[in-house]
Formats: sequence, C-alpha cells, structure tokens
Amino acid sequence: MLPESVLRRAADEMLCYKSTGQSVMEMSHRSKAFGEIIESCESLLREVMSIPDNYKVLFLQGGASSQFAMVPLNLFNGSGRADFVITGQWAKKAYQEASRYGQCNIVASSADKTFSYIPELDPSTFDKDADYFHICQNNTIYGTAFKELPDTGNVPLVADMSSNILSEPIDVSKYGIIYAGAQKNLGPAGVTIVIIREDLVGRARDNTPTMFNYATHVENGSMYNTPPTYAIYICMLVLEYIKNEIGGLEKMAEINRKKAAILYDYLDSSSLFKGTAAKKDRSIMNVPFVTGSEELDALFVKEAAEAGFVNLKGHRSVGGMRASIYNAMPVEGVTALVEFMKEFEKKHA
Ligand SMILES: *Cc1c(COP(=O)(O)O)cnc(C)c1O
Repeated sequence: MLPESVLRRAADEMLCYKSTGQSVMEMSHRSKAFGEIIESCESLLREVMSIPDNYKVLFLQGGASSQFAMVPLNLFNGSGRADFVITGQWAKKAYQEASRYGQCNIVASSADKTFSYIPELDPSTFDKDADYFHICQNNTIYGTAFKELPDTGNVPLVADMSSNILSEPIDVSKYGIIYAGAQKNLGPAGVTIVIIREDLVGRARDNTPTMFNYATHVENGSMYNTPPTYAIYICMLVLEYIKNEIGGLEKMAEINRKKAAILYDYLDSSSLFKGTAAKKDRSIMNVPFVTGSEELDALFVKEAAEAGFVNLKGHRSVGGMRASIYNAMPVEGVTALVEFMKEFEKKHA
C-alpha cells in the first residue's frame, strides 16, 4: 500500500509538477527540477532515519536481489570470507549468490523449523576476519525479525531491510550497509535504497561491473546513468508523509506496534487461527497464520478476498495466510481484518 495522501498528491501533479510544465516522468534526470527531487528525497531519508554524515545514500536499480551480488563484489577484498545467518529464503538467496564470489559460512540457521524463529547466535563462532556479516533483518515470508543485532565487532554488519525499512527507528551506525528494495515499505517498485558507510566504498574487485560498483554511484550522486526518476519522486512524497503527517519514525513505530498487537492478541486468543512465528521473534510487518486445515485456509483466503481483504495468501513456499501490515496500512484496516476473522471463526471453529 501507499498512503492515500501520497497517491492524491501524485495524481494532482501527474500532468504538471510545480511550475515546470511537465510530468516528473517527462523530465530529464539532469534537469534542475529533478535534481531538487532527488536531493530532497535523500535529505528527507537522512533526517527521518537519522543517518550519520559518514554514510552515503544511493538510489539504485535491480532490486534487493542485485544487492545479493553487489555486496560481495564490493566487500570481498580482505579474507574473501563472510558469515551468514539463514533465517529464510531471502537470507538464503543472499548466501547463495555471495557464495559465487567468496567463501561463505553459515553461522546459524532456522531451516529445521521452516524458519519460524530467529536462531540464537554465539559471537565466539563468528569469523573475526570476515569481510562482512549478513542478516535479513525482517523475514517477509516467515514473519520473524531480529530484535537484537549480532555483535560482529569490527566486521561490517550488512542487513537486508527490504520489508522493514522505515517501520521503526534504527541505529544506522551499527551497520556497514543497509539495503532495501523500496516496493514493500517505502515507495513503488524500481528503486533500491543503499545506505553504506563511507569506508566501505571504493574497495570493489577490479573486474566488478561498473554499474555494480558502489563507488560509481557515490561519485555520480546516483546519476551515473538514468535513475528511476518517478520511483524516487514517489519515495520523496512518502518520506514527506512520514515526517509531516505521521511525525517521524518513533510515531510510525508506535502505530506499527499497535497494529501488530491487535492482530497477535487476536491470534493468541483464537481457537481457530494460530500465528506461525515464535512469539519472541515476531515481526511487526508480516504476520503469517494458519487454521491447521488447508481447505479452511483456502476458504478463508477466498472469502476474505470477496470481502475486500486482498493479498492474504501466504507465500507459495509455506501456504496458509500472511497479513502484511506495512506502514501505509491504517489501524482500521487491521481492526476490520480481525473482525472478519472473528466472524469466520464463529462459522468454522
Ligand atoms: C521482497 C524481498 C526481496 C526481493 O526484493 P527485490 O527488490 O524484488 O529484488 C529481498 N529481500 C527481502 C527481505 C524481501 O522482502
């Protein structure tokens, strides 16, 4: 979802952005007007996330999936080794892709229980000379999230935040690289946000493709080639919304925790529905649940869609249901879903 006010503003400005006489889609990325948009988008992101000055912000393409390769190509320049925690399919894909470029070690995995929990980590098992340590901070498909970050010492922590960026305040200084496809919690598909500590830029392998070298994009202000201009514009509007209408990430987090609590409280009290993620590791963004019967799950998804609750089918790899309650989902949306679930439970428990 995107906030309605953002969509309305985009609609108002569709034909003519400010006094430019053009749509943002028609602008040259080298124009003054677009230059102001990308600068404003970056400064809003810096402000909202309190990004320290020694971090660069990049607007790239290729999705989080390209970062699975871009991170190792840029960071494998010391021992050529990296540590991974396997907490789901995205974490595994990051590991598999990086394994093509260096020696990747799995320090822990929750594959034994279908990734329904975050494994305990023992820092004494971490590789002190690793070039980086990778986590997927919020596991979109399984509804788990790291509540505590691994203590990686001097090894840069790299986090995939595709499904939790901007959901709550985080301490950026704890990370070497944060990356996120924008399409889940920030804006439309097409732009990927990378927040990278300065000292990690400029260390790519010689044969790294130019477009996959962070230095290329840092040196050119994310405009080495044509950036995804319209997607960046919508991200700017979303960031203005978070800053001005919501009041920042503390407030955003309060609303998100409230929404998640409404859903989890109901799941914990229901005699039909059951949450599938370990309580201590529950995500506030993605809430997977099941009835215990595949037929009832399918019936629920069908009836829910007919009642206007769409996209509730769980990921094809796990089945069941999943409610993704990203930033733009209002509290009323979650309350209405719980009311619908209660009705369904009455009929089928
Ligand atoms: C959706 C998702 C991805 C894939 O993102 P793309 O931008 O489609 O490449 C990667 N990681 C996580 C955690 C995701 O939720």
